[in-house]
Amino acid sequence: MINEKMRSLGAKRSVIRELFEYGKQRKAEIGADNVFDFSLGNPSVPAPECVNSELKRLLSEESSVILHGYTSAQGDVAVRAAIADYVNKTHGEDVNADCFYMTVGAAAALTSTLTALVCEGEEVIVPSPYFPEYKVFIERCGAKIVEVPCDASDFNLDVQAIEAAINGKTAAIIINSPNNPTGKVFPEENIIALTDMLRKKETTLCRPIYLIADEPYRELVYDGVKVPYLTKYYNDTVVCYSYSKSLSLPGERIGYALISPRMTDFVSVYQAVCGAGRALGFVCAPSLLQKLLPHVLGECSDVAIYDKNRRLLIDRLAEYGIETVKPEGAFYLFLKSPSGDSGEFCERAKKYEILLVPSDDFGCPGYARLAYCVKTEQIERALPAFKALGESYK
Ligand code: PLP
Repeated sequence: MINEKMRSLGAKRSVIRELFEYGKQRKAEIGADNVFDFSLGNPSVPAPECVNSELKRLLSEESSVILHGYTSAQGDVAVRAAIADYVNKTHGEDVNADCFYMTVGAAAALTSTLTALVCEGEEVIVPSPYFPEYKVFIERCGAKIVEVPCDASDFNLDVQAIEAAINGKTAAIIINSPNNPTGKVFPEENIIALTDMLRKKETTLCRPIYLIADEPYRELVYDGVKVPYLTKYYNDTVVCYSYSKSLSLPGERIGYALISPRMTDFVSVYQAVCGAGRALGFVCAPSLLQKLLPHVLGECSDVAIYDKNRRLLIDRLAEYGIETVKPEGAFYLFLKSPSGDSGEFCERAKKYEILLVPSDDFGCPGYARLAYCVKTEQIERALPAFKALGESYK
C-alpha cells in the first residue's frame, strides 16, 4: 500500500507547472520568441555580482571539508549571528543567533513552522488570494485551511472577516506581503488592525494564535513602499524568509525561520521548529549557501528591471482595456478577467500565445496571474498580442 494522498499530490502537476510544460511544447512548435510565457516566478534578473565572486572566493580560500560539511541542525552559529545583526540593524529588532533556524528556502521554513505549531484537526487562516502550496503544507499537518477573502476593492486584509473566522481551533494565520499573486503590500494601519485583533482573540480564547509572515519578496518593492516587520507588531510571530527572490537563487534553496524572542513559550516553540525540521529530514540547510550569506547580506538583485516591466505592463494593459491590480512589490501582476471567468480568460490568452495562470488555485476566481520576472523584450514583443486579447472582448 502507498499513501494515496501523497500519490495524488505527485501525479497532479500544479496548474503553474502544467502551463510551463505546455509553454515548452509550444515553443518547440512555433519558436521560443513567439510564445509569451508569464507563468513561472523564476527570477530573470541575475544574482548580484558579489554572489558569484564570493562563492568563487569561498571555494578557493576556505577548507572544502568545512564548506561542504554538515552544519549544526539549526544552521552555522556564525551565519545565524551575522543574520541576526543584519535584522537588528535593518529593522530595529533585538534578535540573536538562537532565534534562527536555517532552512532549504521559504518552503521548508513554512513546512517546519506549520508542522511545529499546528496539530491535527486545527485550522490555519489564509487570506485569499494566496500561494497555492499553503494548502498542501497545511493539509499535510492534518489541519484545515480556512480561506478568508481580502477586501475586493483594494486587496487589503479584511480584518473583520478574519476575526469572524477565528475559533478555538485556530492555530495560525499566514500573511504574505509583498503578496504572490497580487503584488500587494499590506499597509501599516492594516497590520496594526490585524495584530490588535489577534491579541484580543488570544486573550479571550486563552491560546496563542501564531502569525506566520511569509516574506520571500520583502526586498522587491517599488516607489519606496515600506513593508512592516511583523515581529515589531505581534509577539507570537515567526518570519519565514528566503533568499530565492532577493538574491535570484531559487534553485540553491536557502532561507530561515525567525522565531520572535518575545514569543509565548519561546524555548518550546524554537525546539518544536527544530524538531519539525528533523522529522521532515532536512538535517541542515545547504552549507555552502549558509557560508555565503554573511558576505552578501543587504545585497539585492536589480529591482529597477522588474520595476520597468511593471510600469510598461500597467500602462499598456490599461490602454488595451485590461484591468490590473497595481502591484507595490514582488513581480506579479493580477489581471481581472473581462468575462469574470479566469479559465476562459487564460484559455483565450493562449490563443494569442500568452501564458497566464488562472487565479482559481490562488483561492480567488475571476483573475489571472502574470509573472513579469521576464526579459523586458518579451513584454515588448507580447504587446500586440495583449492588444488583440483586450480588443477581442470589445
Ligand atoms: N512563499 C511564496 C509566497 C512564494 O511565492 C514562494 C515561491 O515562489 C515560496 C514561498 C517558496 O519560496 P522558496 O523558493 O524560497 O522555497
